[in-house]
Amino acid sequence: IIGGVAGGMSAATRLRRLDESAEIIVIEKSGHVSYANCGLPYYVGGVIEEEKDLLLQTPASLHARFRLDVRVNTEVLAINPAKKVVAIKNLVNGETSELDYDKLILSPGASPVVPPIPGIERGMTLRTVEDVEKIAASVGKNPASAVVIGGGFIGVEIAENLIHRKIPTALVEATHQVLMPLDPELATLVAQEMRAHGVDLRLGASVVKINTDSVELSNDEVLPAEIVILAIGVRPEIGLAKAAGLEIGVCNGIKVDDFNRTSNLDIYAVGDAAEKTDALDGSATLVPLANLANRHGRVVSDHISGLTVRPVKTIGTAIVKVFDLMIATTGWNEKRLKASHVKFLTIHSHPNSHAGYYPDAQQMTLKLIFSPTTGEIFGAQAVGRDGVDKRIDVIATAIRGEITAPELADLELAYAPPFGSAKDPVNMLGYMAENLLSGVVRTAQWNEINEYVDKGYQVIDVRTEREFSEGSIPGATNIPVDEIRDRISEITGRKLLVSCQVGQRGHTATMLLNSLGYDSINLDGGYLLWSKSPAATLASALIKYISEIRTIL
Ligand code: FAD
Repeated sequence: IIGGVAGGMSAATRLRRLDESAEIIVIEKSGHVSYANCGLPYYVGGVIEEEKDLLLQTPASLHARFRLDVRVNTEVLAINPAKKVVAIKNLVNGETSELDYDKLILSPGASPVVPPIPGIERGMTLRTVEDVEKIAASVGKNPASAVVIGGGFIGVEIAENLIHRKIPTALVEATHQVLMPLDPELATLVAQEMRAHGVDLRLGASVVKINTDSVELSNDEVLPAEIVILAIGVRPEIGLAKAAGLEIGVCNGIKVDDFNRTSNLDIYAVGDAAEKTDALDGSATLVPLANLANRHGRVVSDHISGLTVRPVKTIGTAIVKVFDLMIATTGWNEKRLKASHVKFLTIHSHPNSHAGYYPDAQQMTLKLIFSPTTGEIFGAQAVGRDGVDKRIDVIATAIRGEITAPELADLELAYAPPFGSAKDPVNMLGYMAENLLSGVVRTAQWNEINEYVDKGYQVIDVRTEREFSEGSIPGATNIPVDEIRDRISEITGRKLLVSCQVGQRGHTATMLLNSLGYDSINLDGGYLLWSKSPAATLASALIKYISEIRTIL
């Protein structure tokens, strides 16, 4: 087994449990096996205080329990599939030798992307315990500034942990949002949280040069950077496989079949190095996450041992903490569906994590995306301070079980006031999906308001006067939902775009107005979603610009 962490060690221990007589050798290049790579950022921040807490097993403990022959500080240099041998090098004494195999499992992981920027040698990456020791040593010197390059999962976690260490930190991300698996209206919430906690977030700019104590950005700005951390993404480790003539797939990962066999049937590949099969469209994809690495490690050992295995496809469920926010996703996002020309419907809701009347309920933003014809769930995203993990995990399970969006209404989920609501946020998504699919209501999205206004729709805000006075969509008319019947004469047009705070009162108002003969559409996610979205930022910039011009004139 090449690689002794997530995929490799799951394969090794499962194989031993299934076969006491097999000779199992694990070769690991770094000085540690079975280390908690997912915990590394928290060691940087001091949240995990002891390095030993990251080391889940040692070669000795794995030998004691599983009789595994685990060789750390040993690198596999080459695979010879014809002779069924691997060439290995002891990185401590430099000795090289060969090992033969009947079955070979590759789990070498993925390596951090290191772009060819001048000064890049000063950038530190985070993958192994040795990497985190280096970063922790730099952080221990109390640097006056840090720059993290890359706003993916690892980048945002590192930025949070540097702030936790009270190090002034900037995060530079070349695209216009952090966390690419999210759609922009949810990513904005994460950006706000990061800025609120003091991260100097630079979106839409890239680092073009790293100097001795600063970095230069593509927009000519210079940021102080006593330490620089690279978190731009990872690439599957395919070097050994490629050199051995194994087939490489379209995503530049090791190509495998349903049982994780490579193009050489005695060689398996799992984890970040191997391509996965997307559960929604069957395409090849890369998902560098721990769950699948562990799952596929086990599947491979079952297959080698002659057990019947179920092929495991991916929906890419993921979660991350950013300061006080939890962010979770599953399935496809809107960006990917649009790029693939797949038709979809979207729902946004802002439910409480548990019953609003029970202390400490926290509002979250939930997004569900599904087929307008079959109701098949394509994906979901959630951002909030509590309860996000539970909702996304339920929806991920629903996707796996082929439960449709309206059928989410039928799920009987555990409820008492401290934990949820009698109509859980997931059930509510089901109700909303039912309404959309049955044609009971129509909704407009946060980024479609101008389109509807251009088509002659009048924006009616049905919140209270006080709420309206605190901020509203430009051009909206305020008629609170409870006053609509009495003030109906004030509505002159027939086409109405109805908006409230989160979409719920808007739904009631839309139903009422439709029954009175109006053509009305509810703003999905309400003013709250719009006001935090990129559309609102643009609209307020425009309003500010117009008012400045007016002042000048
Ligand atoms: P790895 O666990 O990376 O193991 C590969 C091992 O192979 C490495 O130790 C490497 O040294 C060794 N190796 C490579 N080449 C050779 C060679 N030629 N010879 C010998 N040994 C070799 N995933 C989540 O789901 N949730 C998280 O919160 C999360 N957080 C993460 C945080 C960080 C900082 C990192 C780096 C990753 C995180 N991940 C997370 C991703 C997760 O850790 C990986 O998806 C998972 O570890 C992949 O397992 P793997 O077995 O493919 O590779």
